[in-house]
Amino acid sequence: TERTLVLVKPDGVARGLVGEVITRLERKGLRLVAAELRTLDREVAETHYAEHRERPFFGSLVEFITGGPLMALVVEGPRAIEAFRGLAGATDPVKAGPGTIRGDFALEVQNNIVHGSDSPESAEREVKLFFPDLG
Ligand code: ATP
Repeated sequence: TERTLVLVKPDGVARGLVGEVITRLERKGLRLVAAELRTLDREVAETHYAEHRERPFFGSLVEFITGGPLMALVVEGPRAIEAFRGLAGATDPVKAGPGTIRGDFALEVQNNIVHGSDSPESAEREVKLFFPDLG
């Protein structure tokens, strides 16, 4: 079994899609192990997206992700990282297939509803960043 960090980003929370995202991942067979609604401060946001620090969209991305409450989830299951990324669909929602979260609910690459860790290394780092007390 494996754990991954899932975020329903502020656009998803504002649009009332938290339940939709949780329903889809639970239906798939993934299990919630932690959940918290919170607004990120700048420091946590910049740490979370550190790999994008040099990209032209970094400032805008940090504004977006700190701009309202998000729902942080730790999700567990066999190959949970890959399983959730399959549910999320491609980063660019226009390219994401129908039936995926981004494919069904988004149009813009920044405002793409969800985040899911992309490797075991980033999952470990991200779960620790959001839930330092989780066993
Ligand atoms: P995430 O890490 O959020 O699951 P991802 O791994 O699919 O997304 P990354 O390439 O790591 O995509 O980009 C991280 C996030 O940065 C994207 O989810 C999106 O919100 C934003 N982003 C990526 N590319 C762009 C871009 N060209 N313009 C604006 N925002 C972008």
